[in-house]
Amino acid sequence: MLPLAAYACNPDHTRGRVHEEAAPQGRNAFQRDRDRIIHCRAFRLLEYKTQVFINHEGDLFRTRLTHSIEVAQIARSLARNLGLHEDLIEAISLAHDLGHTPFGHAGQDELNACMQEIAPDSGGFEHNLQSLRVVDELEERYAQFNGLNLCFETREGILKHCSLRNAQRLGEVGRRFIERTQPSLEAQIANLADEIAYNNHDIDDGIRSGLLKVEQLLDVGIFARHYEAVLRRYPGVSGRRLVSETIRSMINTLVVDLTETTRAALAEHRPQSVDDVRAAPRLAAFSPEVRTEADELKRFLMHNLYRHSRVMRMTSKARRIVRELFLAFHEDPRLLADDWRRDDPEQQARAIADYIAGMTDRYAISEHRNLFQM
Ligand code: MG
Repeated sequence: MLPLAAYACNPDHTRGRVHEEAAPQGRNAFQRDRDRIIHCRAFRLLEYKTQVFINHEGDLFRTRLTHSIEVAQIARSLARNLGLHEDLIEAISLAHDLGHTPFGHAGQDELNACMQEIAPDSGGFEHNLQSLRVVDELEERYAQFNGLNLCFETREGILKHCSLRNAQRLGEVGRRFIERTQPSLEAQIANLADEIAYNNHDIDDGIRSGLLKVEQLLDVGIFARHYEAVLRRYPGVSGRRLVSETIRSMINTLVVDLTETTRAALAEHRPQSVDDVRAAPRLAAFSPEVRTEADELKRFLMHNLYRHSRVMRMTSKARRIVRELFLAFHEDPRLLADDWRRDDPEQQARAIADYIAGMTDRYAISEHRNLFQM
């Protein structure tokens, strides 16, 4: 384990919180952020939100919660290898999907489409921005402020991307999208840890569900290479154990490659502070060979898993549920509980989006049933 590097974020020199608070006792500022995230409402709801498979399709599939924990695990290993702040990277990882709607990307796309139609000046719905909105505004846990009042560095990491238009409304935390600078290395690494986690666990869940076959995956370079290496090493291994060993070995290769490539970039640019990191080109990256392989895998998953007819059927139902909920509330806001009603039409649309985005898969399904069936 390396000591904290000069280019890492340091909780003693945080850019601070929007609402000033006394320094925490017995833990650092980023630990406090991590703890606030774990205790918040939106974090518990992640257990019942879809990653790829709807929550009730099977007990072994990833949910947003187990996905976020896997991201945090991978990100912490990387942070340790690179001398980055582990508590900060854990906080960013655990919070990165807090703004996800029910039903994964299908839910988000439909909610965005509804917002664009009903409130065209609203900036639409972006799940990344929503994650920030959850920790900045929507959580109601503290007497003195809305949200969790997290440090700038944690908020910077949560906001992975955002449209220029939305960035302009965000102040300090949106500025890098306008100035085209980078976030901290903790944020850059957490983002790539997310990619390592979902590519690999989607293979695992895809095979478990029967939607992907190992024979198909043998056409994907990175999978085939590791699969064959595992068989050479353990000639008798088969079935689930063979798949697990292959995935384990792929994750390890990606983590090692990301560490080494990032180390080389650090050696070249020699950042002496997190501000140097922000001003430098993006330092965290896979090597070009591994990047190419990872992109091939992503394309494979897109064609064969995310667009599989069984997933598409679920996607289409999910979109319909989200749209019908949105339109029902929009046409008659009296269907909403008092705390979701607003006088201003644009604020009303945003409140409906917040309400729907906060739903778990099963809650959205039962709310839909409530509204549309006698
Ligand atoms: Mg994610």
